[in-house]
Amino acid sequence: MTILRTLSLAVALVCIVVRADEQPIEIHDRIKQDGGLGNRVALTLDACSGRYDEALIDFLVKNRIPATIFATKRWLDRNAGAVVTLKANLDLFDIENHGERHIPAVIGKDREVYGIAGAPDLPHLRREVQEGARAVEKATGMAPLWYRGATGVYDPQAADEIRRLGFKIAGFSVNADDGASLSKASVVKRLRRVKAGDVIIAHMNKPDSETAQGLSAGLPELLERGYVFVRLDQVELTELPSHGAAKP
Ligand SMILES: [Zn+2]
Repeated sequence: MTILRTLSLAVALVCIVVRADEQPIEIHDRIKQDGGLGNRVALTLDACSGRYDEALIDFLVKNRIPATIFATKRWLDRNAGAVVTLKANLDLFDIENHGERHIPAVIGKDREVYGIAGAPDLPHLRREVQEGARAVEKATGMAPLWYRGATGVYDPQAADEIRRLGFKIAGFSVNADDGASLSKASVVKRLRRVKAGDVIIAHMNKPDSETAQGLSAGLPELLERGYVFVRLDQVELTELPSHGAAKP
């Protein structure tokens, strides 16, 4: 092989590596095992925009199941009644930051995730994160520690900036409802895959979905199996190797 061909191959390989690094990824996390109980699982509920799934929250309150709620400013503004209920149950619910307007954490003009436009530049991303945090603090009196971007997908620059702003990024390991699109039976089936240390994601902003029915049927099975639900303000997470780049 000539030196020139070797050199061009090397350049091509470097380009592939750099491009892979810049791809947005879905961050997957599990609960860090730090000598604590090995049977912990975390339920996280996204309140993206839209409405309040009262049946779901009522079920959690009645059964004393703790959850971490990722709320946007948009959802908090539109669901004042729900905020009153959540605030009355802060022993169960940890309210964390899901952004101001549900803008995915990918940076660049014309970037989008699942059809939702990303942040055109860094200042827009900062605003999304910081105004989301401000809204949570205003609503609950407590500053959030965790951030989950809309769609759960991040490009490396956005992930770095979110951490620089002082937030930990909350991924997940079991997707229980695919954005509140699954049937009750499918949600129950997903929950049967839960293992110790898993971080479950579901949604609490679509009361017309079957998410509440699915969780109401599936979560008691996890309690019967001996799992203990914890909130993200009680644990640290550890990131799993990426399952490949998400759709940009
Ligand atoms: Zn969301």
